[in-house]
Parts: sequence; structure tokens; C-alpha cells
Amino acid sequence: MELWYTEYQTREIGITCKISKTYYTGKSKFQDIALIETGQFGKMLVLDGMVQTTVKDEFVYHEMISHVPMCTHTNPEKILVIGGGDGGAIREAIKHKSVKKAVLVEIDGKVVEIAKKHLPEISCALDSEKVEVKVTDGIKYAKENKNTFDVVMVDSTDPVGPAAGLFDKDFYKSIYECLKEDGIFVAQTESPFFHKDLIKRVFDSVDRIFPIARLYTCSVPTYPSGYWSFTMGSKKYDPLLTDISKIDGLQTKYYNPKLHKACFVLPEFVKNIIKK
Ligand code: SAM
Repeated sequence: MELWYTEYQTREIGITCKISKTYYTGKSKFQDIALIETGQFGKMLVLDGMVQTTVKDEFVYHEMISHVPMCTHTNPEKILVIGGGDGGAIREAIKHKSVKKAVLVEIDGKVVEIAKKHLPEISCALDSEKVEVKVTDGIKYAKENKNTFDVVMVDSTDPVGPAAGLFDKDFYKSIYECLKEDGIFVAQTESPFFHKDLIKRVFDSVDRIFPIARLYTCSVPTYPSGYWSFTMGSKKYDPLLTDISKIDGLQTKYYNPKLHKACFVLPEFVKNIIKK
């Protein structure tokens, strides 16, 4: 018998993958969790019926959420990842030699446990001595830790359930305060095709709070529409002015110095989403 997984990304469209093996299905305090093997994308982590990451395309998202802000900052030493329990964003962050400490704040310890057990390719950095994993709410953590981090990455689920507050203006204010005086923050902000209102709302909030606000994009085949956005807020460094000749030695499959600037070049319909 064939088994198939379908995520309805909107009411009109979805993604369907043939399942060759099921490693885990269960329910945590926060969400339904599944870890399945698919023919096309290899192992796939699914939370509440939505694809979070797959072994075959995870490098795009994790490199782009991490290296763009990390290379924009001139000396990122202390890093915070909110969400991101699979460990992919922090794996990329600690590739930077300047990093002394990276804290992962994930609300659901079960996601970390499943990723460590079934996704070693992605979660491998979670046991690094530079990494501290805290199982708690990122909204509370950001409020309680002021003037602490050089770079904050918000690697969240979609804006429902415990992640809803991670898309609020008040949360971005806490992130601003949680950053040092030249800190940078980035959040995944969904698809320019399917989530225009969310991107506009988040970008407007970030633009009001941070002196520099930028939107950049990349292609992630397993995310809704395959085209994804990130919103960056920066207190001092503009990613468009990064000296890309200084970026070297990073082992990557997607990100590179030229892409650092190219990813901020937006198509007209995306520019229109964030137009004032
Ligand atoms: N890259 C993914 C995407 O765009 O679909 C996100 C992956 S990561 C697994 C998302 C994580 O955010 C989940 O494990 C979820 O438990 C966590 N999360 C949701 N709300 C949170 C909160 N308030 N504080 C900390 N972590 C949270």
C-alpha cells in the first residue's frame, strides 16, 4: 500500500509527497510532530501538518537565515536563535569563528529530542560546547535578556499557536532591547505569494523600531509557493553596504558573498508589498 503526506498550504493548493517510512508520529504539549521519509526530499520534519524542514532542501533556509545577518555584523560573538529546534540555523551560525556562545530557545523540547534522534545532519551542532539549549518561550526569554546578543534569528513556525506572538510588534521591541547597540535581528516572514499581509505588517513594525529594515528572499521548494522571505532589522550595519570581500571560508551550498547582496534585489511585486 502506498502512503502519501499532503499539506494544504492554502485552501486551494498543497504539497503531496510519497512516504517510504515513518520514524515518529506523536503529540507534544504544543503540537503534532511527525518525522517521515519521503522519496523526493528525504527525511522531513512536520509540525501540525506543516513542513518545517527536509534533509534535501534545508540548506537554503538555514544558510540564508543565518549567514546574511552573521556576515552583515562585523563581529558576531553572542547569538540567539528563537525557535529552530531542529538545530539547522545554529549549525550555520557557529560556522563563524567569531562566535563565542549561541543560545537556542525552543518552546518544545520534544522537537529538539526528535531532531537529535532522527535528523543528525541538521541537529549536529546542538551538542557543541558553544551551544546552550533552553526549553522555554522565546517571547519571555527576549523580554528577560536585555542588551545581550549581537545577532538574533527568529526561526519560528507559522504565526499560529505559540508562534503567533513571534510576529507581534511588542515582540520586535523586546528583540530590539535584547540586542547590543550594533545588533541585528532576522525573522522568517513566509511567502511573498501567499502571505503579503503578514510581510507588510511585520516589515512596517520592524521599520518603525529599527533604523535599518530590509527584506530578502530565497527559494525553498517545500515551503508554500517555493519562494520565501526574511525580514531583517539592524541597529547599525546595513547588509547592502557589507564588504563582501571580507566574507570567506564558509562551507555553504547556497549562500555566497555575491548572493549576500543579490538576495535583497526584489521583484516588483515584492517591492510593492513593503512600499510605504
Ligand atoms: N524553518 C521552519 C519554517 O519556516 O517552517 C521553522 C522550523 S523550527 C522547527 C520552528 C520552531 O519554532 C518549532 O520547533 C516550534 O516549537 C518553535 N516555536 C514556536 N513558537 C515558539 C516560541 N514562542 N518560543 C520558542 N520557540 C517557538
